[in-house]
Amino acid sequence: MSYEIYELDDELNPHLKNSGERLVEPTENIDPEEQSIEISLRPQNLTEFVGQNHIKEPLLISIEAAKKRQEPIEHILLYGNPGLGKTTLANIIAKEMGVNIKVTAGPALERVSDLAAILSNLSDGDILFIDEIHRINKTVEEILYSAMEDYALDIIIGKGPTARTLRMPLEKFTLIGATTKLNLLSSPLRDRFGHVFHLNFYEDSDIEKIINRNAKLLEVEIKNDADKTIAVRSRKTPRIANRLLKRVRDYAQVKHNGIIDNEIARSALEMLNVDEYGLDEIDRKILHFIIDNFAGGPVGLNTLSSAIAEEMDTVETIYEPFLLQIGMLERTPRGRKATSKAYAHLGKKMPKQNNQY
Ligand code: ADP
Repeated sequence: MSYEIYELDDELNPHLKNSGERLVEPTENIDPEEQSIEISLRPQNLTEFVGQNHIKEPLLISIEAAKKRQEPIEHILLYGNPGLGKTTLANIIAKEMGVNIKVTAGPALERVSDLAAILSNLSDGDILFIDEIHRINKTVEEILYSAMEDYALDIIIGKGPTARTLRMPLEKFTLIGATTKLNLLSSPLRDRFGHVFHLNFYEDSDIEKIINRNAKLLEVEIKNDADKTIAVRSRKTPRIANRLLKRVRDYAQVKHNGIIDNEIARSALEMLNVDEYGLDEIDRKILHFIIDNFAGGPVGLNTLSSAIAEEMDTVETIYEPFLLQIGMLERTPRGRKATSKAYAHLGKKMPKQNNQY
């Protein structure tokens, strides 16, 4: 079967022209302005941290118990899609515990000495936050085992028959690991975490709360359901909600009197090419490709990835999770299928044999 290879150039993605980034992508943007806004909007305590009650409640109890015992809280693993609040939560835990937090990421810990230097500089009770912990290399990871279990660094000195292990004591600390891919974590590492928390996509009502709180912090007025309009297009992800709010605020300031009302929010988001489900041109291309070229699927990940000129890993971790979450895509053993919701959204008629959804 032949099909068209979609070239995702600027013409298809007009909003990419300004930032060089995809607007509805949940991963962190390298733009310094966005980074500083993110930090300024970050909730400072568990009360300000909206939603995720299944995590907040047990966490509060663990924090209180650890404080009472005057011990560090158990090691915590946070997993979930980018932009759902893992870094924010790690910082809040440090604040609630009243301790320092050191932040690093898996890929930054290339050698054993990188990790050893960080661990030996931690003070009693400190938190070490390792983002993307699944990307830590195996030799460095093994150092973590004794550090987490016995608060000790086992360093091997020398090679061959004369090699010996030197054990250096460490201060008691808490490791908070964050990952988007729990399945890539080895079980010896996973088993050393006392708590494993999964961050879910947010309810639209929670995203609305975040938008209203942040509009206040950004000193912009938002009225008559504009919060709802932005929320439903934010892909259930706070980072995207913040990004859209900022773009709509800019639009309101340039085109209007700075106040965000429903009409302004709608026209800003239309200009930014984000539709009422929060889908952009690339998402729609994926759905169109499956529907137009494969009669709704199934389509293998490989074919889909080359059709939109992206790595398979990017399609699996960036594009697919949200399309699956909102029920526009279905994963089957034979490949990806577009659902009746996807057909309806694109205004297409579903072929009869696919009507089982
Ligand atoms: P992750 O580490 O999972 O990629 P972050 O913790 O960096 O995500 O969150 C991205 C941004 O989203 C934060 O700067 C914060 O402003 C906002 N945010 C995340 N979770 C929440 C929440 N539960 N309540 C309010 N804002 C949130």
